[in-house]
Amino acid sequence: MRVKRSEASLIERIRRAVPSVSGAGRRADVPAGIGDDAAVLQFRRSARWAVSCDSVLENIHFLAGAQPAHSVGYKSLARATSDLAAMGAAPKFFLLSLALPAQRTGAWLDAFGKGMSQAAREFGMLLIGGDVARHPTILVSVTVFGELPFAARMRSGARAGDLLFVSGRLGAAAMGNEIVLRGLHRTAEFKPLLRPLFYPEIRVDLGMHLANRRGVSAMIDISDGLSTDLARLCAASGVGARLRLESIPRVSVPASLVQRGFNAGQLALHGGEDYELLFTARRAAAKNFPAAWRGVPLTRIGEITPQSRGIRLIQRNGRSELLRPRGWDHFR
Ligand SMILES: [Mg+2]
Repeated sequence: MRVKRSEASLIERIRRAVPSVSGAGRRADVPAGIGDDAAVLQFRRSARWAVSCDSVLENIHFLAGAQPAHSVGYKSLARATSDLAAMGAAPKFFLLSLALPAQRTGAWLDAFGKGMSQAAREFGMLLIGGDVARHPTILVSVTVFGELPFAARMRSGARAGDLLFVSGRLGAAAMGNEIVLRGLHRTAEFKPLLRPLFYPEIRVDLGMHLANRRGVSAMIDISDGLSTDLARLCAASGVGARLRLESIPRVSVPASLVQRGFNAGQLALHGGEDYELLFTARRAAAKNFPAAWRGVPLTRIGEITPQSRGIRLIQRNGRSELLRPRGWDHFR
């Protein structure tokens, strides 16, 4: 009984911290929210939904000693929601499954809840259910639901001749991650550089805009690195690509990190967790593309080729080489 009661109190604390739907009959689209055996969703007949789940594990995705609990809460929801953005979906609801050690159920959990709440408010999402359990390390699993106002933009729509674009700039999160891995994160000079790693900006509005824009043919979010996610898009579409190294918009690396071997080009090419959008567009439509949308740069970085050409990286001197995916892969 005691275990049950404290489990219930944890759920109650999370429910209060994060925007949520509880009980029955509060919202037409959620006839039953938190508190029953399952949530019930009432979808409009014409609506399509994008659904995805994502796990964040202590010592795999983050180090509890280096990353604040507030950021773990924010980022757990952000990275799952980025997959909705990559489909062009409007984020709506999420489920949270959380396992953690007893000593994390106090201040750590409160800060985690505040961070997750900040993300939920930014993305317009409501918590509709979940689960808590005890475990020696922290495990966060988030399932997200997004409504598709337009047809979903898949990875598989690219054709030879399309142009290749990326939003924002790449490599900032990977630079932050490298700072943590090298134990430099306590150095005051480098602390501000951790923000893109701890609080990634995800492209929800841009994803919906691009899904609705004529000529956009395929889209993916860059979660595991440009070289890896471009390979995924090309494989899904059955195409190859030419990527110009010099065109890739990249993070600016301070001189003190360049001296330590940090390389902006490599961070931008292979570094993960920027959550920018990589997309292709038909050549005729892409001519009129703006260089930025609501302040987010949209940069042409290459073009799509027949699959037989492979994925080639064009160097500054014009030489090209086959590009191997060297981003994040759990099983490599
Ligand atoms: Mg993705």
